[in-house]
Amino acid sequence: MNPESGYRGRFAPSPTGPLHFGSLVSALASFLDARAHRGTWLIRIEDVDGPRTVPGAAEEILDTLGRFGMHSAEPPVWQSQREAAYQTAFEQLVTAGFVFPCDCTRREIADSLAIGHTGHHTGHARHTTLAYPGTCRDGLHGKPPRAWRMRVPNGDAAILTFEDRWEGKQTQDLASEVGDFVLKRADGEWAYQLAVVVDDADERITHIVRGADLLDSTARQIYLQRCLGVPTPAYLHVPVVVNQQGEKLSKQTGATALDTGTPLVALIQAAQHLGLHPCETGSLETFYSDATAQWAKRFAGLGR
Ligand code: GLU
Repeated sequence: MNPESGYRGRFAPSPTGPLHFGSLVSALASFLDARAHRGTWLIRIEDVDGPRTVPGAAEEILDTLGRFGMHSAEPPVWQSQREAAYQTAFEQLVTAGFVFPCDCTRREIADSLAIGHTGHHTGHARHTTLAYPGTCRDGLHGKPPRAWRMRVPNGDAAILTFEDRWEGKQTQDLASEVGDFVLKRADGEWAYQLAVVVDDADERITHIVRGADLLDSTARQIYLQRCLGVPTPAYLHVPVVVNQQGEKLSKQTGATALDTGTPLVALIQAAQHLGLHPCETGSLETFYSDATAQWAKRFAGLGR
């Protein structure tokens, strides 16, 4: 790849289990986009969530990606090694007055939202993420702080719009749809939203390509980028892979590990999921050149 293009992309798996078909689709999309732009492709291990990290899973993911012909152009960054960078960014946000402590338990937040939503008090409400009601915005309520939250703006300033290269124009009202979100969790772990923004900025990522389950997080990340004074990359969210029940494929919904003995079989299926029809499938090399050419026709030039 030619670093001169200035393009820097990444695949950022959470090591909660082996690579499965759903994560292969995201890896392949980000890899093809980097190749189509003659850019640099990186892998970042998102092991910031200590309790969810499975020992050995990161090494297994890196090994599987290697067998599928995807290698990071630079040594992978491990979020568990980046504590100091997250602390620095957090302090910058504290100094700028964006952060406040929160002593609410999940239960208290759910209860206060249920009161505010009488009539929608049914089972399906549990599956909807409701906005934090702002309980601790103006001070704690006599208990020690549990989590630290990022204050989102009020009114029109909370409405954030961005262009997704796959999905088109996206708009989210941070105040009513998300609310003040967590930067540092009650268990002391850094929140994904903060870690990902700090890492993408420090690694000078110009293009983010990932699953559409993260579309909903993007406005929060752009808001954090603006508050930290770092650039906003271009975004492309690919359709998520679902199982027969319509659930996103993950370890929890029964996704199985990929067969590393026959990488082309899974790669061809992943390419099909992305709407490509590679015909040159004699070897990994010919598969990637054909898939890259098709991707370039569809997407390269649309991003920045
Ligand atoms: N670590 C996240 C995941 O595996 C991906 C984060 C990202 O691409 O921004 O779902």
